Amino acid sequence: MGKRIFVQPPAKFTGIKLTEPQQVSGGIPAIMSSMKHIFGEVGVMDGTRTMLRLNQFNGFDCPGCAWPDPDDHRSTVEFCENGAKAVAEEATVARVDEDFFAKYSVAELSEMSDYELGKSGRITHPFRLVPGDDHYRPVSWEQAFGDIGSTLSRLDDPNRAVFYTSGRTSNEAAFLYQLFARHFGTNNLPDCSNMCHESSGAGLSETVGIGKGSVTLDDFYKAEVIMIMGQNPGTNHPRMLTALQKAKKNGAKVITVNPLRETGLVRFKHPQHPTDLVSSGTSITDLYLQVRINADVPLLKAIMKILLEKDEAMGGGVLDHDFIASHTTGFSTLLEDLATYSLEDLISQAGIPAEQVHKAAGLLAAKERIIVCWAMGLTQHRNAVDNIREVVNLLLMKGSIGKPGAGTCPVRGHSNVQGDRTVGIWERLRPSFGVALEKEFGFVPPSPDGYDTVNAIRAMNEGKVDVFMALGGNFLSAAPDTETTARGLMKCDLTVHVSTKLNRSHLVHGRVSYILPCLGRTEADYQEGQAQFVTVENSTGVVHKSKGGKPPVSGHLLSEPRIVAELARATLTGDSRVAWKYLADDYDRIRDAIERTIPGFEKYNERVRKAGGFYLPNGARNREFHTRTGKAVFTKNKLPDHMLEEGQFLMMTIRSHDQYNTTIYGLHDRYRGIHNERRVILISQPDMKTMGLEKLDEVDLISEYDGEIRTAKSFLVVPYDIPEKCVATYFPEANVLVPSRKAARISNTPISKSVVIRIVSKS
Ligand code: SF4
Repeated sequence: MGKRIFVQPPAKFTGIKLTEPQQVSGGIPAIMSSMKHIFGEVGVMDGTRTMLRLNQFNGFDCPGCAWPDPDDHRSTVEFCENGAKAVAEEATVARVDEDFFAKYSVAELSEMSDYELGKSGRITHPFRLVPGDDHYRPVSWEQAFGDIGSTLSRLDDPNRAVFYTSGRTSNEAAFLYQLFARHFGTNNLPDCSNMCHESSGAGLSETVGIGKGSVTLDDFYKAEVIMIMGQNPGTNHPRMLTALQKAKKNGAKVITVNPLRETGLVRFKHPQHPTDLVSSGTSITDLYLQVRINADVPLLKAIMKILLEKDEAMGGGVLDHDFIASHTTGFSTLLEDLATYSLEDLISQAGIPAEQVHKAAGLLAAKERIIVCWAMGLTQHRNAVDNIREVVNLLLMKGSIGKPGAGTCPVRGHSNVQGDRTVGIWERLRPSFGVALEKEFGFVPPSPDGYDTVNAIRAMNEGKVDVFMALGGNFLSAAPDTETTARGLMKCDLTVHVSTKLNRSHLVHGRVSYILPCLGRTEADYQEGQAQFVTVENSTGVVHKSKGGKPPVSGHLLSEPRIVAELARATLTGDSRVAWKYLADDYDRIRDAIERTIPGFEKYNERVRKAGGFYLPNGARNREFHTRTGKAVFTKNKLPDHMLEEGQFLMMTIRSHDQYNTTIYGLHDRYRGIHNERRVILISQPDMKTMGLEKLDEVDLISEYDGEIRTAKSFLVVPYDIPEKCVATYFPEANVLVPSRKAARISNTPISKSVVIRIVSKS
């Protein structure tokens, strides 16, 4: 009792080994790594059987990223190395059961690394931690639902509860969950989208009228130029490399914009193509622009200025003037804005040679079919929404949206993060959705905005939240400002996590804490004796089926829709007209309710049963821009304003290759040549020299915002090819440095890609 709880991963080194970064991604090492994880965690027979169902028409959707599958066919092996790791993690034979929790106290578990916690295995029973005890103990579902329901119903104000959602959650569970929260009386529905592509949603909704990307997978094969900005698909969306390889074979040029030279964007060998394995692979990037961190707006402005000059010099033909005239507003504002900058200043701020910027503009000038893809490298800055708006400016200027081979492509991380938002997980309630919910379910949903992630952390710290509930995920480790987030969680009266695996969020808890174990994607889901499937939406807006087939790891697991329905029944006793049990008994009924309340889901049950599912409507794809004016909007955006003092660096957090979001599959970052260690800081050789640092020196990292000092202890210096004054660290280890109160303007997304830090040598 009373032992310290480690809210951050322990600052212990694990035995670093450095090699040269790899020059080619995929290939035999990817096959070996996939086999090691799946056979090691699941076994050869069961592992093979399970993998052959992954991403198949009648199989289950990958619990990894949201990269789309082909529309009309599936190959036998329709997954990547990261998909194999994600499935291995879920289908593991290891178990977190009664004996496990009897053996380890919560404090002892908190001393484990996130990697060790994840490797403990699947949670087998509902568990509860009560005041005065330091071990989780098994509890019956009945008791859990009753206790949680009565705590919620005793709250003075429904807004004292927060309902967080992770992007793995299915459409069906997410829809019921938002229904529960709103029926309970709150829009406090933060989700992981708040921490990743909220900036994309905000920038795109304003400019092209839909907060999602406009391209389909087929568009990649028709594109002439693909720009990849602030994204590392080799690690985070590996099958995107397959699409890029095919695009290259069709003649596309690829421009990459990224502070780090990422192996996946340099060269790729398709692991399933024998000819590739014995060749040197496909060169992916034609022009690699290694910009400074957060230098995207100056780069894009410089490119647009050059395109304008070329268009003027040639008397047209570079910009799409017909499209600009008929489909957009604000072009003159953009011209005025660009005129206020000197090209030299913009290029200098981008931090790359002028000839590279001219070359990029040259590649774009004569082309009409351009796709811009991006991920967190654009969305997690103070000016993240400006980044997205500037991308849109470039595409609109070229008329590169709403036609084959062209458009916007924010590549989503978690497998159903886009779908969860589509079916209502949002701290804001669209008025039309509120009306539809009232009509369908007979209650008036609350209209005031609820807490997003950043505001939920603040509210918890201010003592305004009593109950924190999470449908999936690892909120503590995904969120910024680890110590602040932890303090907030520990102030709650009750924390509840619906989970498959153990993570640090279970160990940093409220006065009472529950872990409710749910079925995973790989597992068969039977309700009332009938096999069920769930549905998800990928990055290109395709809604499709996911049906697990493995027997559940424990007879005590419930599905997420069932858990949500039972929590609602236990909480909303007597005053709900929603037939919670009826809905959870047959997921077709939930889908019917979604169809009646959310546009685009017409004939949901029928269409989703077709192989590959169906596309949701997407106005921008057809040049129908649902903005206030009915046209796409050019915008004026400021340059970022980082004023680094001597000794300060701009830090971005990144994932290792053995990691997906907060899940740590292993300790290697194979492509970058960093092995068996996560507490590292990647820094340029010139900066090391200026700071008097040597390779593998131990340092502490410090950020200071508004007089508040945050420290991440004990990192090892790794010399790396990264622009000067820029450094990179893995998250969640460095999340402690990210100030939650300095989030992106408009989207309120944490600034995890541009944190000002100092490096303090310990030698
Ligand atoms: S690309 Fe993403 S969705 Fe596809 S198999 Fe890999 S991790 Fe899974």
